[in-house]
Amino acid sequence: MEGVREESSVQLQCWKNARSDQSVDALTTGAGHPVGDKLNVITAGPRGPLLVQDSVFIDEMAHFDRERIPERVVHAKGAGAFGFFEVTQDITRYCKAKVFEHIGKRTSVSVRFSTVGGESGSADTVRDPRGFACKFYTEDGIWDLTGNNTPIFFIRDPFLFPSFIHTQKRNPQTHLKDADMTWDFFSLRPESLHQVSFLYSDRGIPDGYRHMNGYGSHTFKLINDKQEAVYCKFHFKTNQGIKNLSVEAAGCLGSEDPDYSIRDLYNAIATGNYPSWTLYIQVMSFQEARVHRWNPFDVTKVWPHKEFPLIPVGQLVLNKNPVNYFADVEQIAFDPSNMPPGIEPSPDKMLQGRLFSYPDTHRHRLGANYLQLPVNCPFKCRVANYQRDGPMCSTDNQGGAPNYYPNSFSAPECQPRAVEHSLASTNDVARYNSSDEDNFSQVTEFYVNVLNVDERRRLCENIAGHLKDAQRFIQKRMVDLLTKVHVDYGAQVSALLEKNNAACPQKKVIKTYVRHSDRSMTSDHIVASEKSNL
Ligand code: NDP
Repeated sequence: MEGVREESSVQLQCWKNARSDQSVDALTTGAGHPVGDKLNVITAGPRGPLLVQDSVFIDEMAHFDRERIPERVVHAKGAGAFGFFEVTQDITRYCKAKVFEHIGKRTSVSVRFSTVGGESGSADTVRDPRGFACKFYTEDGIWDLTGNNTPIFFIRDPFLFPSFIHTQKRNPQTHLKDADMTWDFFSLRPESLHQVSFLYSDRGIPDGYRHMNGYGSHTFKLINDKQEAVYCKFHFKTNQGIKNLSVEAAGCLGSEDPDYSIRDLYNAIATGNYPSWTLYIQVMSFQEARVHRWNPFDVTKVWPHKEFPLIPVGQLVLNKNPVNYFADVEQIAFDPSNMPPGIEPSPDKMLQGRLFSYPDTHRHRLGANYLQLPVNCPFKCRVANYQRDGPMCSTDNQGGAPNYYPNSFSAPECQPRAVEHSLASTNDVARYNSSDEDNFSQVTEFYVNVLNVDERRRLCENIAGHLKDAQRFIQKRMVDLLTKVHVDYGAQVSALLEKNNAACPQKKVIKTYVRHSDRSMTSDHIVASEKSNL
């Protein structure tokens, strides 16, 4: 007898069963020509070479050759789903955005969860932050809340972002993940300590995507209909409860079911077990922001709950799986600068850096008209602007409407209600060094007051388990920083490293003759190896 198969493993049968008309479609080329034979290429004789006139084969092969679009530089591996957001509490005193218009209002959403550092084929169960990006299709255009499963981030200045990400990816020569790179960077940039401590805690390996929180992470600005503004943070708290994987379970799943999180989400939704999250905001007035003991725009820090309590707003529910992964998930493009009237950026430097970087990478990855793709287009409103043309324009290109502004022909006009909130700024323009903005006290709070004894022990084991692969001088610099968080933190990690270092002395670094790369290096290499082969 056949065993019970989960929903994700019978997708093709479900697709077939769902078709009302069970007749078979006519096979065509991309241009719609009926195809007579799709199993045999046209050749000159049964064994002969094939002919270039086989346009059916060429149509197939040429498209196949172009199937892949560039992988996301970060967040390459992910799962997506659709659903809705429903307002349960009135926050119109803070925000005029249509998504929060009235209690009971529902807005369609799409969500993409992801790991960060791995490639699109990497395992889901690695220790890594998880992306938690939510796209709200509002009547005032798209709102993308493009966050992570942590309320904080590793760095506070976006200039460091490319370097930070390089340390999480592959060594440029060995093409291997490299503990020296990771811990060298962390230990040179102590502002990363807070996020590093979250990452190596139990929550560093969530059990799938349904059992983790999501956070907007940055500070945003909310504007009400009187143009009054407050600062705000967004928190999605999972209604499924937090669940994490042990290091051992994650290791096993990494080889046995590397797509564990994608499968878990798909099957939950397919069986009607819809995951949901409660959205909360924290609110800070401009006056409170001026006197707060921490920079409220520093994304390496949280706003303490006791001072800025969580205010419930609504429910995010995911109740529909993607119909086509490439169209719905691979092509989905989140952009923190997608903010409808009522939601605006704060001065948070990391957010400001992302406002540029995200749409920039989408234009590269998907093309200049990526906002016309069905999953990205603001379908609740009509796009009316003066942009035209570009590669793969797939709309009517706004027909015969004027393509210049101003004009005298009743073409789209500016909307005064959408004018941004103004913010006074009188500071000198300069490159301000923010590396030393209290990198320790919130980490100490986390270590001492949030984690219990067992959680602290596992945190230290997890750090030592990876830090041991870095060189000794890097280990020492990291332990010195952890000691500044708390003596016990440094002592536990140090003791574990010493034990490991005594048991397995580090191998001597083998000298290799590698020159800095330059244009001639490749040909030098080839010439040298050719000589040695003679
Ligand atoms: P609270 O003492 O009120 O609550 C502690 C918070 O820590 C909860 O939000 C809890 O999330 C979260 N938490 C528990 N374990 C972990 C973990 N392993 N990794 C990440 N987060 C975890 O918080 P305070 O506001 O008083 O801040 C104290 C410290 O808590 C902060 O310095 C920060 O390190 C941490 N924290 C604070 C958050 C905030 O926004 N204020 C959010 C997350 C962490 P949950 O409620 O879902 O169990």
